[in-house]
Amino acid sequence: MIDVEDEAVTDSTNNGSDYDVIIVGGGPAGLCAAMYGGRGMLRTLLIERGLPGGELLNTELIEDYPGFESILGRDLADKMANHARKFGAEFVTDTVDAIRREPGGGFVVMTDLGKTYRAPAVILTAGGTPNKLGVRGEKEFAGRGVSYCAVCDGAFFKGEVLAVIGGGDAAVEEADYLTRYASKVYIVHRRDKLRASPIIQQRALANPKIEMVWNKVVEEIEGDERGTRRIRLSDTVTGATSTLDVGGVFVFIGFTPNTGIIKEHADHDSQGYLVTDSHMMTSIPGLFAAGDVRVQLTRQITTAVGDATTAAIAVEKYLAERREQASVGAA
Ligand SMILES: Cc1cc2nc3c(=O)[nH]c(=O)nc-3n(C[C@H](O)[C@H](O)[C@H](O)COP(=O)(O)OP(=O)(O)OC[C@H]3O[C@@H](n4cnc5c(N)ncnc54)[C@H](O)[C@@H]3O)c2cc1C
Repeated sequence: MIDVEDEAVTDSTNNGSDYDVIIVGGGPAGLCAAMYGGRGMLRTLLIERGLPGGELLNTELIEDYPGFESILGRDLADKMANHARKFGAEFVTDTVDAIRREPGGGFVVMTDLGKTYRAPAVILTAGGTPNKLGVRGEKEFAGRGVSYCAVCDGAFFKGEVLAVIGGGDAAVEEADYLTRYASKVYIVHRRDKLRASPIIQQRALANPKIEMVWNKVVEEIEGDERGTRRIRLSDTVTGATSTLDVGGVFVFIGFTPNTGIIKEHADHDSQGYLVTDSHMMTSIPGLFAAGDVRVQLTRQITTAVGDATTAAIAVEKYLAERREQASVGAA
C-alpha cells in the first residue's frame, strides 16, 4: 500500500533506480531517516511490514525522549510517521525478503508481495526479534500464557501471578508495568544482581507486587488446556530444581538483530549486530544501518533517531560523491 505519491526530485545520475534511498523498517530509526531523506529532497521509500512505529507500539509510556516528559509510544509513533510523510517520504506496507547489491553498486530490495525496488543506497533499520528461552513448553504455550510483549498482552492477565524472565532494562520496566494487572510479578534472573539501569531497578524494587527470584533459569514451562500453569526452575549456583505457580510468563532476554535479509557478507559482532563507520555505513558501500540493528552501547529511541539522522545525511553525501564520480567518468 503506497500512502503518499512521490513528489520529490528525480536524480538523473541514478538511472534505473526507483528511489534515491530505500529505508527498510519503520521504527523510530526508519521514520527519522525517512523524515531527513524527504526533507533532503531525496526520493525516499520506507518499507515496513506492519504499522509504522516499531517497538514504540509495544511501549506504553515513554519518559525519556527529550521534549516529552511523558508520551504514549503509539502517539510518538504517529507523530514520527506523519512528520516523515509531510516531507514527502513514501511508505509501503510489505516485508522485505532480500537486499542484494547489484554489479553497478546499487541495491535491489525484494519483498514478500513479489515487488522489487531499486536504489543506490539502502538504510537498514529493521530492529531485532525477541530472543526465545528455547525450553520445553515455550512454543506450546506461546499466546496461551507465554508472551514477549507486556504492553500487548498485560491486560489479559488481570489478577494473575506472573513471571518475568530477564534482568535488563526491558525485563525490569515491563515487570513494573505488569503489576498494573497482575496480583504479583516474579522477576526470574540467572544472576544475583540486575543489569537494568539504577533508576529502573529502584522503581521496580520499591514495588510491593514485585519479588526477585535470583540465580534461577527456566527449564520448562508447564500448563494444561487452560494455558500456562507453572515454570520449572533450576538454580544456577546449586543446581537445585524448584517450581513457581504462574498464570503467565513474559520473556525479556534480549533481541537478535534482523539482518538476515542482507544477502552478502556485512561485518557484524558475535551477536550479529552490524558494524558501521561513523557515517553509519556498513562494510558494504551504500548500505547504511541505524538503530537497534547496529553495534552500540545502548539501544534507545534517542540513539535510534541519532543514528538515523547521521545515516540519512551520510546518504546525501554518498549520492553526491557518486554523481561526481559519474560525471568525471563521463568527461
Ligand atoms: C518493551 C520495550 C520498552 C522500551 N522502552 C523504551 C523507552 O521507554 N525509551 C527508549 O528510549 N527506548 C525504549 N525501548 C527501546 C526502543 O524501543 C528501541 O531502541 C527502538 O525502538 C529502536 O528503534 P529501531 O527503529 O532501530 O527498531 P524497531 O523499533 O525495532 O523498529 C524496527 C522495524 O522494522 C520492521 N521490520 C523488521 N524486519 C522487517 C522486514 N524484513 N521488512 C519490513 N519491515 C521490517 C519492524 O516491523 C519494526 O517496525 C524499549 C524497547 C522495548 C522492547
